[in-house]
Amino acid sequence: MGNLHWLNDPTAFALAAAVLGMLVGSFLNVVIHRLPKMMEREWRAQCAALAGTTVAAEPPFNLATPRSACPGCGHRITALENIPVISFAVLGGKCSACKTKISVRYPLVEILTGALFAGAALTFGWGAAALTAMVFLAALVALSCIDFDTQLLPDDITLPLIWAGLVANLWETFVDLNSAVIGAIAGYLVLWTIYWLFKLVTGKEGMGLGDLKLLAAVGAWLGWKTLPFVVLASSLVGAVLGVGLIILAKRGREVPMPFGPYLAIAAVIALFFGNAIVDYYLTRVI
Ligand SMILES: [Zn+2]
Repeated sequence: MGNLHWLNDPTAFALAAAVLGMLVGSFLNVVIHRLPKMMEREWRAQCAALAGTTVAAEPPFNLATPRSACPGCGHRITALENIPVISFAVLGGKCSACKTKISVRYPLVEILTGALFAGAALTFGWGAAALTAMVFLAALVALSCIDFDTQLLPDDITLPLIWAGLVANLWETFVDLNSAVIGAIAGYLVLWTIYWLFKLVTGKEGMGLGDLKLLAAVGAWLGWKTLPFVVLASSLVGAVLGVGLIILAKRGREVPMPFGPYLAIAAVIALFFGNAIVDYYLTRVI
């Protein structure tokens, strides 16, 4: 690819991917923060429309408008203060104007995304697989954080992610198209079955419907063969982290546990080590 020859060097590509990931992570912070609020606004407007009233006009609010500002004093975040990770470190985690603390989650999301992108670069090498894997990873980071905050997995991300996985595998980027289509359907149906069984037995909703769409997306990206691993691993991660969270954060057992982050963690493991895992259980376990 023309002038991008230097990206064929694994180290150079991994470093470039880490920088790209931190920049994307900075954007994901905006998505994580604003998308749930945008959805809430939309629901309010829809409810009002159903009730035959209208909501009071509000200033525009989307991923681009208004510009990011300190919630404490309204200080506009300048471009220099918006450099991933570095600005946070230089500012000591505080607003430059009023010294309100900035959540450490902003740089953490940037570092996490950078690390995941570098992982994709090292796993797949320079090419379409690495670049499309980054799309998948970015969506998983955003979904995990939004689910953690709000117990929602927005359709605005999960549904396009299903289509994106199928499109990526038109060229057998990760699995053949058959495995991808069956994966999308099976991912949805497996959790759909569990969802209804749980509801019939306990009368409660054990998981959100967003989890079904997320597992469908994982199936579309990674194929049906990874689904048993993803379901088992996410349940295991959920059990371990869930108990840890209850103990550490004194998070009540009644607080609904988001399942999306666990699915996402399992999906990342499957993306990076999937072939080895599938080979293992297809040859030894079955
Ligand atoms: Zn401030």
